[in-house]
Amino acid sequence: MEFLAKCPKCDAGLPVDAASAPESITCGGCGCEMALSVSDTLRENRGVDRCPVCRGGDFYIRKDFDPKVGLTVVIVGALISAAFYWYGRDLIAYSILGFATLIDLAIYGRLKDLTVCYRCHSEFRGPFEHKAVAFDLHTADVLEMEYERRIGRR
Ligand SMILES: [Zn+2]
Ligand SMILES: [Zn+2]
Repeated sequence: MEFLAKCPKCDAGLPVDAASAPESITCGGCGCEMALSVSDTLRENRGVDRCPVCRGGDFYIRKDFDPKVGLTVVIVGALISAAFYWYGRDLIAYSILGFATLIDLAIYGRLKDLTVCYRCHSEFRGPFEHKAVAFDLHTADVLEMEYERRIGRR
Protein backbone atom coordinates (compact mmCIF):
# COMPACT_ATOMS: atom_id res chain seq x y z
CA MET A 1 0.00 0.00 0.00
CA GLU A 2 0.95 3.59 -0.23
CA PHE A 3 0.52 6.09 2.53
CA LEU A 4 0.74 9.83 2.75
CA ALA A 5 2.90 10.72 5.74
CA LYS A 6 1.89 14.09 7.18
CA CYS A 7 4.75 16.20 8.51
CA PRO A 8 4.10 17.04 12.19
CA LYS A 9 5.67 20.47 11.76
CA CYS A 10 4.26 21.85 8.52
CA ASP A 11 1.51 19.37 7.48
CA ALA A 12 3.11 18.66 4.11
CA GLY A 13 2.05 15.28 2.68
CA LEU A 14 4.82 12.89 1.62
CA PRO A 15 3.83 9.78 -0.35
CA VAL A 16 5.63 6.65 0.88
CA ASP A 17 5.42 3.07 -0.34
CA ALA A 18 4.92 0.96 2.80
CA ALA A 19 6.70 -2.11 1.40
CA SER A 20 9.95 -0.22 0.84
CA ALA A 21 9.61 2.54 3.42
CA PRO A 22 12.91 3.87 4.80
CA GLU A 23 13.67 4.39 8.49
CA SER A 24 13.13 8.09 8.13
CA ILE A 25 12.22 10.61 5.48
CA THR A 26 13.04 14.25 5.00
CA CYS A 27 10.11 16.61 4.69
CA GLY A 28 10.05 18.45 1.38
CA GLY A 29 8.22 21.36 2.99
CA CYS A 30 10.30 22.29 6.03
CA GLY A 31 13.30 19.97 5.74
CA CYS A 32 12.81 18.23 9.07
CA GLU A 33 13.55 14.54 9.57
CA MET A 34 10.57 12.27 10.19
CA ALA A 35 11.23 8.88 11.72
CA LEU A 36 8.99 6.16 10.32
CA SER A 37 8.09 2.97 12.08
CA VAL A 38 6.21 0.86 9.57
CA SER A 39 4.56 -2.20 11.12
CA ASP A 40 4.66 -5.62 9.44
CA THR A 41 0.92 -5.48 8.88
CA LEU A 42 1.42 -2.30 6.92
CA ARG A 43 4.42 -3.58 4.99
CA GLU A 44 2.60 -6.75 3.96
CA ASN A 45 -0.47 -4.81 2.89
CA ARG A 46 -2.77 -6.55 5.37
CA GLY A 47 -4.26 -3.46 6.94
CA VAL A 48 -3.51 -0.46 9.11
CA ASP A 49 -2.81 -1.23 12.78
CA ARG A 50 -0.33 1.44 13.80
CA CYS A 51 0.49 4.78 12.26
CA PRO A 52 4.13 4.91 11.07
CA VAL A 53 4.33 8.66 11.69
CA CYS A 54 2.84 9.20 15.16
CA ARG A 55 2.62 5.54 16.34
CA GLY A 56 -1.06 6.04 17.08
CA GLY A 57 -3.57 3.23 16.69
CA ASP A 58 -6.76 5.19 16.04
CA PHE A 59 -8.07 5.65 12.53
CA TYR A 60 -11.20 6.64 10.71
CA ILE A 61 -12.45 5.85 7.27
CA ARG A 62 -13.56 8.21 4.54
CA LYS A 63 -14.16 8.22 0.80
CA ASP A 64 -11.17 9.11 -1.32
CA PHE A 65 -13.05 12.04 -2.80
CA ASP A 66 -11.66 14.70 -5.04
CA PRO A 67 -14.18 17.54 -4.64
CA LYS A 68 -12.95 19.25 -7.81
CA VAL A 69 -14.15 16.43 -10.07
CA GLY A 70 -17.66 16.34 -8.63
CA LEU A 71 -18.01 20.10 -8.71
CA THR A 72 -16.94 20.31 -12.37
CA VAL A 73 -19.67 17.88 -13.40
CA VAL A 74 -22.31 19.88 -11.54
CA ILE A 75 -21.11 23.24 -12.93
CA VAL A 76 -20.93 22.00 -16.53
CA GLY A 77 -24.37 20.42 -16.13
CA ALA A 78 -25.77 23.63 -14.68
CA LEU A 79 -24.34 25.71 -17.53
CA ILE A 80 -25.78 23.45 -20.23
CA SER A 81 -29.14 23.33 -18.54
CA ALA A 82 -29.14 27.13 -18.10
CA ALA A 83 -28.70 27.46 -21.87
CA PHE A 84 -31.72 25.23 -22.52
CA TYR A 85 -33.69 27.08 -19.87
CA TRP A 86 -32.95 30.36 -21.67
CA TYR A 87 -34.53 29.01 -24.83
CA GLY A 88 -37.63 27.97 -22.93
CA ARG A 89 -36.90 24.25 -22.87
CA ASP A 90 -37.47 23.81 -19.15
CA LEU A 91 -37.98 20.09 -19.31
CA ILE A 92 -34.66 19.44 -21.06
CA ALA A 93 -32.97 21.87 -18.68
CA TYR A 94 -34.23 20.01 -15.64
CA SER A 95 -33.36 16.60 -16.97
CA ILE A 96 -29.78 17.69 -17.73
CA LEU A 97 -29.44 19.05 -14.22
CA GLY A 98 -30.80 15.79 -12.80
CA PHE A 99 -28.43 13.82 -15.02
CA ALA A 100 -25.42 15.79 -13.76
CA THR A 101 -26.45 15.01 -10.20
CA LEU A 102 -26.74 11.33 -11.08
CA ILE A 103 -23.23 11.30 -12.58
CA ASP A 104 -22.02 12.93 -9.39
CA LEU A 105 -23.62 10.23 -7.28
CA ALA A 106 -22.16 7.53 -9.51
CA ILE A 107 -18.67 9.00 -9.08
CA TYR A 108 -19.18 9.10 -5.33
CA GLY A 109 -20.38 5.50 -5.19
CA ARG A 110 -17.32 4.24 -7.03
CA LEU A 111 -14.85 6.00 -4.78
CA LYS A 112 -12.42 3.89 -2.84
CA ASP A 113 -12.12 3.89 0.91
CA LEU A 114 -9.32 5.73 2.58
CA THR A 115 -8.05 5.17 6.13
CA VAL A 116 -6.91 8.30 7.94
CA CYS A 117 -4.94 8.64 11.18
CA TYR A 118 -6.87 10.60 13.80
CA ARG A 119 -3.76 12.17 15.28
CA CYS A 120 -1.47 13.22 12.46
CA HIS A 121 -3.88 12.87 9.49
CA SER A 122 -1.62 10.53 7.53
CA GLU A 123 -3.63 8.77 4.81
CA PHE A 124 -3.49 5.09 3.85
CA ARG A 125 -4.54 3.93 0.41
CA GLY A 126 -4.59 0.45 -1.00
CA PRO A 127 -6.62 -2.68 -1.71
CA PHE A 128 -6.44 -3.89 1.89
CA GLU A 129 -9.51 -4.17 4.10
CA HIS A 130 -10.38 -0.76 5.53
CA LYS A 131 -11.68 -1.65 8.96
CA ALA A 132 -11.56 1.75 10.65
CA VAL A 133 -14.74 3.36 11.97
CA ALA A 134 -16.52 6.42 10.62
CA PHE A 135 -15.20 9.83 11.58
CA ASP A 136 -16.12 11.01 15.06
CA LEU A 137 -15.58 14.66 15.92
CA HIS A 138 -15.18 14.13 19.65
CA THR A 139 -12.53 11.42 19.21
CA ALA A 140 -10.73 13.67 16.71
CA ASP A 141 -10.69 16.58 19.17
CA VAL A 142 -9.30 14.50 22.01
CA LEU A 143 -6.65 12.69 19.96
CA GLU A 144 -5.50 15.72 17.98
CA MET A 145 -5.04 17.71 21.15
CA GLU A 146 -3.04 14.90 22.73
CA TYR A 147 -0.83 14.61 19.65
CA GLU A 148 -0.24 18.34 19.28
CA ARG A 149 0.74 18.57 22.91
CA ARG A 150 3.16 15.70 22.49
CA ILE A 151 4.91 17.25 19.49
CA GLY A 152 4.91 20.64 21.20
CA ARG A 153 2.54 22.55 18.99
CA ARG A 154 0.38 23.73 21.87
ZN1 LIG B 1 7.65 19.62 7.19
ZN1 LIG C 1 -0.56 9.20 12.73
